Amino acid sequence: MRRLYEPMAYGAAPIADSFWPTTVHAIADHAPLQGEVSAEVAVVGAGYTGLNAALALAEAGRNVVVLEAEQPGWGASGRNGGFCCLGGAKAPASALMSRFGAVATRDYYQTERAAVDHVAALLDRYGIGADTHSEGETLLAFRPKDIKGLQDLAEEMQRFHQVKCEVVAKPALAERGFASPEFHGALTTPIGFALNPLKYVLGLARAVCAAGGRLFGGTPLIALSRDGDRHLLTTPGGQVRAKVLIVATNGYSSDDLPGWLAGRYLPVQSNVLVTRPLTEDELIAQGWTSRQMCYDTRHLLHYFRLMPDNRMLFGLRGAMKTTPAAHAETRARARADFERIFPEWRHVETPFFWSGLLALARDLVPYTGPVPGLENAWTALCYHGNGVAMGSYAGRLLAAQITGQGPDTPAPLRAGLRRFELGRWRRALLPLAYTWYGLQDRG
Ligand SMILES: Cc1cc2nc3c(=O)[nH]c(=O)nc-3n(C[C@H](O)[C@H](O)[C@H](O)COP(=O)(O)OP(=O)(O)OC[C@H]3O[C@@H](n4cnc5c(N)ncnc54)[C@H](O)[C@@H]3O)c2cc1C
Repeated sequence: MRRLYEPMAYGAAPIADSFWPTTVHAIADHAPLQGEVSAEVAVVGAGYTGLNAALALAEAGRNVVVLEAEQPGWGASGRNGGFCCLGGAKAPASALMSRFGAVATRDYYQTERAAVDHVAALLDRYGIGADTHSEGETLLAFRPKDIKGLQDLAEEMQRFHQVKCEVVAKPALAERGFASPEFHGALTTPIGFALNPLKYVLGLARAVCAAGGRLFGGTPLIALSRDGDRHLLTTPGGQVRAKVLIVATNGYSSDDLPGWLAGRYLPVQSNVLVTRPLTEDELIAQGWTSRQMCYDTRHLLHYFRLMPDNRMLFGLRGAMKTTPAAHAETRARARADFERIFPEWRHVETPFFWSGLLALARDLVPYTGPVPGLENAWTALCYHGNGVAMGSYAGRLLAAQITGQGPDTPAPLRAGLRRFELGRWRRALLPLAYTWYGLQDRG
């Protein structure tokens, strides 16, 4: 496997202090593949993308095998912030319009909305209790000059999603339960909700197995080749022959599995801090009582939400390396930012902190479609940190592309993944990008 980060990124250390495993009673251990197996479809990666594809295909009567290097949800899907929201592309609407035209851009935005509805429907249909909360999501301006941007976004939401957003001026923030010296205004979009990401992904894994899919844990794909008209997937304990291959490895991808991926995705780290449960008095002292999922207007944004058990989840982008020193430094930075935004909680312990990899595309648009040059092979990735909804739906779209039944994939998601100019050295872009974003984010 040719991967981009330090070995620590692909091991257990970044999630040693994750909060999510403490919220589930028992995590089913899926045994590794042993020996030879044949299937119609082999899915590599058991996160939202792979499991959604596997679920739709198994329910369509296909013989599906899922190979997961660790266990279902081990990647970003079992460790994210749980914001099930609009998003997926990082390219602005203006860039989508000039590249794809008005109709395809509208289709793309409708797909973002459909993705949120898709997850809500899955939770309902499979009875997955995922501790949901929040009525849409709230964007907070960390500088007075960002308020104009909130108003522009409200117009964009009206135009592309036909929803009315609410803009809240600074004096009214406290009465809405958003009191913080950091913020100057808010915009609430009434689409999306928050969930427990691990409960959702484990529920998906159960649904895949119930639909007849075979799921192997501890089974990394280590080599990919052809055997006649079949893909031959080699793992440490056995091999799978399958007519159709789906690669659903996103931020944990390898540049050689398949080779087409080389240089086409850029893994970046995101990080999450979680407090102990706050008391009602502590919530009142800070003036933060809202259960809305929130993020701020920074390029290197913070995302946070008061969860149903009164713990605050506080996430932030950044960290250029995954090493013990970088992990400790990011944890300290997260804590400092948390204390600045919520000064009345400076005494509150934050026993949980973890990190993981998501993926960016060169053109800032996700990809969902065939792997060029590899017959009957498909992939979906690069959701720019918004993969709870979009990754789930991308998996569903892949299944629809394979069976010819189900929702259409809008043109922007089929446009391809351009190689980063620096190829295997593309991580060198991060210090430049973070410095530039840091300058933009200055008050
Ligand atoms: C800390 C953090 C916070 C985030 N917060 C949010 C959020 O609040 N909202 C949101 O929308 N998005 C968020 N994201 C992004 C979101 O989690 C991802 O976009 C989404 O989970 C991607 O799902 P996936 O199935 O494509 O990939 P993943 O969930 O990363 O799964 C890929 C899987 O592939 C497996 N794999 C890799 N290589 C192999 C191989 N060779 N053989 C077998 N298996 C392999 C990995 O073990 C992994 O389990 C966050 C991400 C992180 C890291």
